[in-house]
Amino acid sequence: MSLTRRQKWRIEKIQAERIARANKASNDSEDLLDDETKAQTGLVITRYGQRLLVEAESGELYQCTGRRNIELSVAGDQVVFQTIDNDEGVVTALLERDNLLRRSQKIIAANIDQLWLVVAVEPHYQFELIDRYLVVAENANLPINIVVNKIELSDNPEQVIYDFSMYESAGYNVHYLSVKEQTNLGEFKAQLNHKAHIFLGQSGVGKSSLINELIPDLNLRVNELSTKSKLGKHTTTNTTLYHIPSGGDLIDSPGIREFQLDDLTDKEILSGFREFKPFIGLCKFRNCAHINEPKCAIKTAVENGDINSKRYFNYLQLIGV
Ligand code: GDP
Ligand code: ZN
Repeated sequence: MSLTRRQKWRIEKIQAERIARANKASNDSEDLLDDETKAQTGLVITRYGQRLLVEAESGELYQCTGRRNIELSVAGDQVVFQTIDNDEGVVTALLERDNLLRRSQKIIAANIDQLWLVVAVEPHYQFELIDRYLVVAENANLPINIVVNKIELSDNPEQVIYDFSMYESAGYNVHYLSVKEQTNLGEFKAQLNHKAHIFLGQSGVGKSSLINELIPDLNLRVNELSTKSKLGKHTTTNTTLYHIPSGGDLIDSPGIREFQLDDLTDKEILSGFREFKPFIGLCKFRNCAHINEPKCAIKTAVENGDINSKRYFNYLQLIGV
């Protein structure tokens, strides 16, 4: 849908008014700030209550409060802030987010480049669980790839690779690792360069072990941040952004590692199977559920081999057919 010139003009006018109002609101509290201090952009490392730990481009950390008219930011957010003291500042603007990870409406992290679903040979991967994670990621517009860990425990690695070929054919990257035996770890680390990553997955699959490989002094850093934020041990449960020494960032917390999946609607499930997309809207019936309707484009695609039949089977299972 394209807007008429008049509609565009109206929208621009409304936005200009909003910005003017926001500026007025922030001017009212301007006396809090030293006029000489310059605004700079920073990266939110963690949030604790109403306070933020913000990393300046120089790498220095500032404890910040947010202006009241500003949406609460989370790890991964880019903000504009002004310093008011040696290591204190005020966040005056939240920059536009590329994406978000949320659970039960609560925003957990922002500006994530890559989610990694970690599964393992032991406890043995389950397709239904994998599909549920993928559906959540697709619906949130978050790129997701798969790590299969503990590959050394498999007596039939070819079978494992075959099992995941349906995900590869749907366009997901799959990495087969053994953190224990360091198999493929170097290549994997190299993939993480210059991006912000989150590791998700069932407990026991090796997420903590993998993260410890990436950031061996993680516990030490958590303690340092606790000291900096003057909050003691509370910070250990907060979602935090860490720089990976070999490149890239990790956004992590115990809550993220144990990220529980919300219930999925049928609509979310359908839009969560990314390779179905080209066929949606092509069925004979507009309200086709793609189960046993005649002239269903999805089923035809399965018959023609354009959609992997196992993925279609998993789809049916997820919607409870
Ligand atoms: P998390 O719950 O996903 O964080 O998993 P952990 O990192 O705590 O790992 C669970 C268990 O799996 C621990 O006993 C690890 O030592 C073990 N583990 C991690 N990676 C591997 C691996 O590649 N092979 C084997 N055999 N065990 C592993
Ligand atoms: Zn259909």
